[in-house]
Amino acid sequence: MTFDATPHVAVIGGGIAGLAAAFFLAAAPVRVTVLEGSPRLGGKLQTSDIAGVSVDEGAEALLARRPEGVALIEAAGLGGDLVPAGVTSSAIYTRGGLRPLPRRQFMGVPADLDELAATGVISAAGVARARGEAASPAAAGDVSVTEYVGSRLGVEIVDRLVDPLLGGVYAGRSEDLSFQATLAPLAAAAREHATLTEAVSSLLPPPPPPAGGAPAQAAPVFVSLATGIGALPEAVAKASGADIRVNATVRELNRTAAGWRLTIGSAADPEFLDADAVILATPAAPAARLLAASAADAAAQLRQIPYASMAIVTLAFRAADFPAQQRSGYLVPAVDGRAVKAATFSTVKWPHLAARAAADRPVQVVRCSVGRSGDVAVLQRDDADLAALAEAELAETTGITAGSVAQRVTRWGGGLPQYNVGHLDRVAAIRAAVAAQPGLAVAGAAYDGIGIPACIATAKTAAAQVTAHLTARRG
Ligand SMILES: Cc1cc2nc3c(=O)[nH]c(=O)nc-3n(C[C@H](O)[C@H](O)[C@H](O)COP(=O)(O)OP(=O)(O)OC[C@H]3O[C@@H](n4cnc5c(N)ncnc54)[C@H](O)[C@@H]3O)c2cc1C
Repeated sequence: MTFDATPHVAVIGGGIAGLAAAFFLAAAPVRVTVLEGSPRLGGKLQTSDIAGVSVDEGAEALLARRPEGVALIEAAGLGGDLVPAGVTSSAIYTRGGLRPLPRRQFMGVPADLDELAATGVISAAGVARARGEAASPAAAGDVSVTEYVGSRLGVEIVDRLVDPLLGGVYAGRSEDLSFQATLAPLAAAAREHATLTEAVSSLLPPPPPPAGGAPAQAAPVFVSLATGIGALPEAVAKASGADIRVNATVRELNRTAAGWRLTIGSAADPEFLDADAVILATPAAPAARLLAASAADAAAQLRQIPYASMAIVTLAFRAADFPAQQRSGYLVPAVDGRAVKAATFSTVKWPHLAARAAADRPVQVVRCSVGRSGDVAVLQRDDADLAALAEAELAETTGITAGSVAQRVTRWGGGLPQYNVGHLDRVAAIRAAVAAQPGLAVAGAAYDGIGIPACIATAKTAAAQVTAHLTARRG
């Protein structure tokens, strides 16, 4: 027990997972310290101005179908800032042009092969191959997305549809990513249905009513914050009531007779902090370093989780120069050989951003994602070069001829964990090794999903785990 009778919980990492954990601990009789190594809170959540508009540099949207994100936003007092996406239909830039993304699909796996054929995303031979699905037995066990979906519907569907959608989330490659870990709902549905297209259908809302019928008022799939998703970390930190420290890199974590000792700061001038329980909410590599002494098995498994690097190139154009867009953006399959793997027309997707631009200087803001797992060469270009490359590719896909008026390059080195084949077993092993250490829990994007709601869910679980430990110890 630390210096007073109230148990002390240290949360290592001030990204959304660590801050959410601190928020959930506020309900328990504990005092909480969040230690963030960098000078600012938020990790992958960050907003800054470009051409006078506040635009997210990292995460920009939140899946509203999972309750955890919206619930935390409301609990942190930002419910009034929630905004739905204005335009959600996207496109695929492939086979030499922009083609509509089929509406009836789950992460690119199609439910309706007639709709798919009409989009032109896949060749006629690729559609014919998909129609022959029943003749293709599915692979068993934890296999890659390419192996599972490719064996059932053909590799062209993986390359031109599934890979770009998964690439938009993980910056990963379908031949490495685990089908069960990255497409979990589909993996479960596939066990219940004869074909994969039927399994996808079972996950989708019913098709829209025929022309002339009253359209159903669908709840928004994605939401954001008028002030940017980057506003969430500070609000959650404040609502948690925790003691928040930045520039506080935790270098070592050791068990003591009473709990845990954290070593903070430089080796020359270390500071020690004692805690009764610890929530480790960092990416896998620092988590592995910190657990090397106390939970070597967990550390060994954490080292097996690779991370992909990427960059977001945000470009602002004079609105009058930019060709009108009906869609929120487009994705580019790796097989089409471009540097930009996804472009979001931010001011189209999020009308509140367009409304925020100065009335006399309306702009069109475009977010270009660059960088795929295993392909780091493109990220070695300097910022100006990367922005010029993104702008050149954008000119090709949209026909814009005028240059941008502002550019911003945000690099996310090792930004996205890769849920490769074996991920679920790896996470089970990490959790088992961590559970064997009293008063230790892990949270964050490395485990059960990289989206913000999934990270918040791991934080809630971690908070419950350490609270249960402290309650049992008191008893
Ligand atoms: C470019 C990009 C776009 C994304 N877009 C979306 C999106 O639109 N929607 C969505 O839901 N998700 C999106 N994601 C994913 C999502 O943002 C992340 O998975 C999530 O924010 C990760 O949160 P986290 O708290 O687990 O980790 P992080 O945000 O990585 O936070 C971990 C924190 O730990 C700190 N830290 C590390 N080591 C130490 C140490 N030794 N001591 C103290 N502190 C330490 C780090 O500095 C960091 O602040 C995106 C991710 C990226 C990179």
